[in-house]
Amino acid sequence: MRAQIDDTHALDLRSWVASADGHSDFPIQNLPFGIVSVDGGERRAAVAIGDQVIDLAAARATDLFADVAEAAVRVMAGGELNAFLALGAAPRRALRARLSEILRVGAPERARLEPLLLDRSACTVHLPTRIGDYTDFFVGIHHALNVGKQFRPDAPLMPNYKWVPIGYHGRASSVVPSGTAVRRPRGQIKSADFDAPSFIPSRRLDFELELGVWIGPGNDLGTPIPIAEAADHIAGFCLLNDWSARDIQAWEYQPLGPFLAKNFSTTVSPWIVTPEALAPFRVAQPTRPDDDPMPLSYLADADDQAAGGLAIELEVLLETPALAAAGLPPHALSRSDARHMYWTVAQLVAHHTSCGCNLNPGDLFGTGTISGPDLTSAGSLLEASLSGKQPIRLRNGEERSFLEDGDQVILKARCTREGAAPIGFGECQGRITSTN
Ligand code: CA
Repeated sequence: MRAQIDDTHALDLRSWVASADGHSDFPIQNLPFGIVSVDGGERRAAVAIGDQVIDLAAARATDLFADVAEAAVRVMAGGELNAFLALGAAPRRALRARLSEILRVGAPERARLEPLLLDRSACTVHLPTRIGDYTDFFVGIHHALNVGKQFRPDAPLMPNYKWVPIGYHGRASSVVPSGTAVRRPRGQIKSADFDAPSFIPSRRLDFELELGVWIGPGNDLGTPIPIAEAADHIAGFCLLNDWSARDIQAWEYQPLGPFLAKNFSTTVSPWIVTPEALAPFRVAQPTRPDDDPMPLSYLADADDQAAGGLAIELEVLLETPALAAAGLPPHALSRSDARHMYWTVAQLVAHHTSCGCNLNPGDLFGTGTISGPDLTSAGSLLEASLSGKQPIRLRNGEERSFLEDGDQVILKARCTREGAAPIGFGECQGRITSTN
């Protein structure tokens, strides 16, 4: 069942954690889950509130949780949240509701909880799950159109696009948390001027602006998840940067699709923003033009079409070494919105499992690059620079077609709606280092 709006979302709800009030990402209305450590110590499950985090095991040890909420914290051992995600929606909702209660202004539990707060800046934040499998989709229709136009001006969309949520199986081992350096890959690159490829550092290194989806309980092999139940298997969301080496991609991608061009690093924002926190920001699936096909029945659900979309404003910032040295802020490269997704996340879950493939708790989906309709909303440099034909000019006179060593890409997300407290996702950031 889809998460509903309740008293945890109230606009006037305030926390006794002072930094939470008006916090751009983590006010009391959000309460995302993650894994942190301090000074190289044990990895612990935590919830983010303002500029601080609460160690959930320590809170449990002071008897702050009971019943289902207590059971949810009990499984958060071992430095990963897979077992928690496996529990599904009800324990997650109960725990979030209890956290909201004890973090509110006036909560009598404050005296017991306050000593357990840690400064978020003093914590190392890790991947929230042990990711068994990672799948990347292609739901951004403007991205598909923009890239398709570069290769097939007369027919930019492949004939299957509006029928089937396109995806490929990615590589889980190289998914890294925000802040991890991204080494420029070397690979086989073949320029048009030569008959043979060379093995050299990528010269067309790019980012891709995506949402990540954390999988909850999942399904047994051979048992598809019906579209009407798909929301029960979505445990949360993050930002995801699918770093891509366009020159390696161009030579290797036919006939089996992306391989080394995309498996060298995928960066995620480390806090799991729950479907409960996003309840106020649900929107209808974008209306399909009349001549688009209706989804086949296994992808069609009235509730999903009415409220399966997400209103999440997305932003890409680029910081170059020269901008930083001059004390200038990062360049605002692009603004987009999750409303540009052609397929809902429930449709991705239903499609992925429709042949019987099993999803496991803690698996990760990437939505695919979420671009808007014009260059100011491009979700990749391939689109923003028209494949390098139209370099982007930064405020200090620098130009970029693709990423240079030392460049830092920062993805941000923000949810706003009249009558709701804005929430964000935290940063998804990575800096390019040289190949050696
Ligand atoms: Ca991608």
